[in-house]
Amino acid sequence: MAAIRSIDALDAAGKRVLVRVDFNAPVADGAVTDDTRIRAALPTIRKLAGDGAKVILMSHRGRPDGTGFQEEFSLAPAARRLGELLGVPVAMAGDICGDDARAKAAALADGEVLMLENLRFDPREKKNDRAFCEELAELGDAYVNDAFGTAHRAHASTAGLAELLPSYAGYLLQNEVDTLTGMLDAPRHPFCAILGGSKVSDKIAVIEALMDKCDTLVIGGGMCFTFLAAQGYGVGTSLKEDDWVDRAAAMLRKAGQKGVELLLPVDVVCADRFAEDASTRTVAIDAIPADMMGLDIGPRTARLYAYAIGRAQTVFWNGPMGVFEMDAFAAGTEAVARAVAANKAADTIIGGGDSVAAVNKFGLADAMTFISTGGGASMELVEGRELPGVAALQR
Ligand code: ADP
Ligand code: MG
Repeated sequence: MAAIRSIDALDAAGKRVLVRVDFNAPVADGAVTDDTRIRAALPTIRKLAGDGAKVILMSHRGRPDGTGFQEEFSLAPAARRLGELLGVPVAMAGDICGDDARAKAAALADGEVLMLENLRFDPREKKNDRAFCEELAELGDAYVNDAFGTAHRAHASTAGLAELLPSYAGYLLQNEVDTLTGMLDAPRHPFCAILGGSKVSDKIAVIEALMDKCDTLVIGGGMCFTFLAAQGYGVGTSLKEDDWVDRAAAMLRKAGQKGVELLLPVDVVCADRFAEDASTRTVAIDAIPADMMGLDIGPRTARLYAYAIGRAQTVFWNGPMGVFEMDAFAAGTEAVARAVAANKAADTIIGGGDSVAAVNKFGLADAMTFISTGGGASMELVEGRELPGVAALQR
């Protein structure tokens, strides 16, 4: 992959620098309730402001209609939270690149920060509209992309704008790309990939890509039942994608040919329905009752998986092992999370929105080497797809 230009190569002093961040943070009663994404952008913002740039931040938040300003999707709460974290006020524009944004941008002193309004208030953002890119470009002398979470989208602020201004990768985006490509290109072996979540169909490309890189592939979550069905087991009423059974069988064969150790559950926690207070039974994999569904890996499986994880030098984990949102079906995911966290000799990399939520729920985030902030973007990168927001910084 061609190198991306780092902001370390940008002489930012006195320049107006447009920075695409991912401040798509949850808000309640006008205040940000989880500032993880805002904190993630601090190194880049501090570096630019410290160098004396006039920092102009752009982001989307939520899914507005794309018909103009909507209070509930305003970025004002994010600007306030950023101001608290930086210890200096952050100016807030009432529009994206209209009169108010232009006036506030022109009034910025070196080292000051301005937040533009939600990019998706303008329908041209998602269309990567050239005229919109030009209007944004007029606000800046240089462009920095630090929004890894939207790097898989070819929008105006992630792709088109990079063609109009000298463009650079912020530290967050750079770190994500370096860590994930480093894991794929030169992992320390044994490389254990753990894949779970709900559907095989969502993850097939990730599994196939990792099959070429890893030594051990650990499969849990709803998707394991399609693999188990491919092996001829009855899976009761578990999540099973009939259209994907043949593909799962082909992957099992491919793993055998490549010498990849592919681990599937040996026991499962079954429930009579999809509910926290369902009646449950833990059974061996060949004894799933016809009228029950598997909602978590069983304890023997968790020990087997923990052992494989403990031997690895590189661990990549995407997708919970069970329905961890319900306490009755969280044990498998927690056991795997603890095994990953306990392996201090390995590079441990977590990707995927729900997997990251699970790691946070068990209080293990600090024990991991790297937690990706980009759900869909990290999956597409692992699949080997070009991310438009990254490619734009390589040209
Ligand atoms: P990520 O966001 O980490 O990529 P996914 O979105 O693919 O993960 O999958 C997460 C979801 O998978 C969770 O909501 C979880 O409840 C669900 N899930 C895990 N195991 C099962 C299962 N056995 N049956 C049904 N759903 C499951
Ligand atoms: Mg998810």
